[in-house]
Amino acid sequence: MSGRVFTGNFTQQEPIPEEAIEAAVRVMRSGRLHRYNTAPGEESEAALLEQEFAAWSGAKFALAVASGGYALATALRALGVKPGDKVLTNAFTLAPVPGAIASTGAVPVFVGVTEELVIDFEDLESKLHLSNVLMLSHMRGHICDMDRLMALCDAASVRVIEDCAHTMGARWNGVLSGRHGVIGCYSTQTYKHMNSGEGGLMISDDAEVMARAVMLSGSYMLYERHLAAPAPEVFETVKYDTPNVSGRMDNLRAALLRVQLRDLDAQCARWNARYKVVEAGLTGTPGLTVINRPEAEDYVMSSFQFLLLDWTGDKVLEVVRRTAARGVELKWFGGAEPVGFTSRYDSWRYAPSAPMPASDRVLRAILDLRLPLTFSEEDCAEIAGIIREEVGAVYQGE
Ligand SMILES: *Cc1c(COP(=O)(O)O)cnc(C)c1O
Repeated sequence: MSGRVFTGNFTQQEPIPEEAIEAAVRVMRSGRLHRYNTAPGEESEAALLEQEFAAWSGAKFALAVASGGYALATALRALGVKPGDKVLTNAFTLAPVPGAIASTGAVPVFVGVTEELVIDFEDLESKLHLSNVLMLSHMRGHICDMDRLMALCDAASVRVIEDCAHTMGARWNGVLSGRHGVIGCYSTQTYKHMNSGEGGLMISDDAEVMARAVMLSGSYMLYERHLAAPAPEVFETVKYDTPNVSGRMDNLRAALLRVQLRDLDAQCARWNARYKVVEAGLTGTPGLTVINRPEAEDYVMSSFQFLLLDWTGDKVLEVVRRTAARGVELKWFGGAEPVGFTSRYDSWRYAPSAPMPASDRVLRAILDLRLPLTFSEEDCAEIAGIIREEVGAVYQGE
């Protein structure tokens, strides 16, 4: 093995902005970390974050919660999903998505993935009759044709929850990801587009659904202190029969996020610049498929995926080994054992699925790398060069 070795750290995010640190320190000095613990006349950081996130997204209502996975489970409960119900979701997604479904006692039904890494419409159409909820995961930031998806789901009376953990700020045909379905759910965990360690956000225009979500999150009947929640009358219809499943966001995290939200669009542009450098560096590599991005898709990528279609597992592992020896960490979604975040639908044994051979072929081919903002564009060019060389060497059977 020869050539340069990359020395960057694939899991190192940028520091929290100083202004956000100061805001968090102010919250700690006040002692009022709980969102409903406010001084007279004071609006809490959590309530202000919700107001600002609603304004940023254009949604009528927003709710800040403890995690992205909690947001997904709360969305399902708010839509009335019950134990034993089936919920459609992507076969290519992350463990917290089927986990959120299982946490309600519902049963995930997996829908296949295409070579563009989006939901397979043909498979979806054959399964739409099984459920009235689709939890659509825009996994790794790849957005399907949302106009077509919503037309299919509307015609079948299937309500759509969008998992926007990787599409905060992305758009399809100009419409923000999270604004197509009835609820959009986001994560503010460290590896996503805003970083509060843990955290989640939900948006919706549906007053009753959002009133239920606020009740579920643990509002202790203090919903009038929210600034982006439905009117108090709406709560009258749901407050006696919606359980409290506490999962609030605290003021400390909200303070960190309010500052980051102001910079979000600029940060997303920096991420995309890195993505485009890797894309340019890998395009045209023999044996390697770069994911085609449609014109209508306005993505916000913080990671990069490519396919080694129809390669044997041994050859893929050889690429992973060779790039690792040169400092480039590739994750393989096709591995038989779940490693880190790279689990496959057939490793979630609590939710058995019929095999999906066409999807298995794609999943076996997916390689993934993170592109944190601590990497420069030159770093990204170097990473792409290393992948190109090592894929080339294995492909040519060196
Ligand atoms: C991170 C993530 C989630 C859940 O977020 P947490 O805040 O970690 O619970 C959901 N879906 C996808 C695709 C994710 O990557």
